[in-house]
Amino acid sequence: HSKEAGRNCYSFFEPKMNANAHAQLQLQQELLGALDRNEFLLHYQPKVVAPAGPMIGVEALLRWNSPQRGMVAPDAFLPLAERTGLIVAIGNWVINEACRQLKLWHGQGHDSWSIAVNLSTVQLGHPGLVDTVRDALQRHDLAPACLVLEVTESTAMRDAETSLIILDQLTSLGVSISIDDFGTGYSSLLYLKRLPANELKIDRGFVTELAQGNDDAAIVSAIIALGKTLGLKIVAEGVETAEQQALLTRLGCNTLQGYYLGRPVAAEKLLASLDSVQEIPSK
Ligand code: C2E
Ligand code: MG
Ligand code: MG
Ligand code: MG
Repeated sequence: HSKEAGRNCYSFFEPKMNANAHAQLQLQQELLGALDRNEFLLHYQPKVVAPAGPMIGVEALLRWNSPQRGMVAPDAFLPLAERTGLIVAIGNWVINEACRQLKLWHGQGHDSWSIAVNLSTVQLGHPGLVDTVRDALQRHDLAPACLVLEVTESTAMRDAETSLIILDQLTSLGVSISIDDFGTGYSSLLYLKRLPANELKIDRGFVTELAQGNDDAAIVSAIIALGKTLGLKIVAEGVETAEQQALLTRLGCNTLQGYYLGRPVAAEKLLASLDSVQEIPSK
């Protein structure tokens, strides 16, 4: 319905409309044509085995290069894209673009790299998702195992039973499922056990305070133990310091993502940024 509303917005635009609603409407107008105008792009953040280990893959992170606003981060437009349903078309573009780029990297000798794509609630609930993923893999001639789909606990929980069905279908294609922002949702252990996941990403919130001597080290240990019990690969996100890296590896998590290991960058800058990461002396 919101998509309709966007097209007919003048019919409900009234002076009494508050500034925030007006700003949202403005944003929606700009967002509506952004895909056709080719304004979206992906940045890629490395996923690295520490310390100084190989890069095993990247996570694709959406950016909107808006002529009016400059480079816009996803948090500023994804909620609106979700509400209007635009996320489905944008998300399909993301899946195809990520596959296209990974195929290029594979052809350049980085054939062990995987690529992770984030999925939102509306995407997961949309009936075309499985076909989109299958088509993208076929179009770019990629082995399904090198595509990782990241869903948050809350996304998977929104319509828990349907999510399980879709995630099972995706798993049947051969792609991997990763539980993003782990620890911030409210999934029961029973539900977690049923999720066909291969990977669990410890939320940045726990990593940030890891070195400050509070409960976070104990929580992170518990998450790692839980993940290992469930047979999941454990990744920590938001690693910003050498100290966090050292603590995480000591706790048993050595697959890391974060500014310390590499910031999200455009595809053409990724290889150069990796060289500079490896030049950081280990402490
Ligand atoms: P996420 O999937 O949890 O991605 C991690 C976010 O943390 C990214 O923000 C990344 O740039 C940022 N980050 C990475 N390392 C560090 C670090 O060391 N410190 C700090 N402070 N931040 C770090 P970004 O790119 O703004 O994306 C935010 C969220 O937007 C993502 O969270 C994901 O949920 C969503 N998102 C991004 N791209 C897409 C997409 O293509 N589709 C969908 N549906 N959602 C997306
Ligand atoms: Mg993610
Ligand atoms: Mg995350
Ligand atoms: Mg997040």
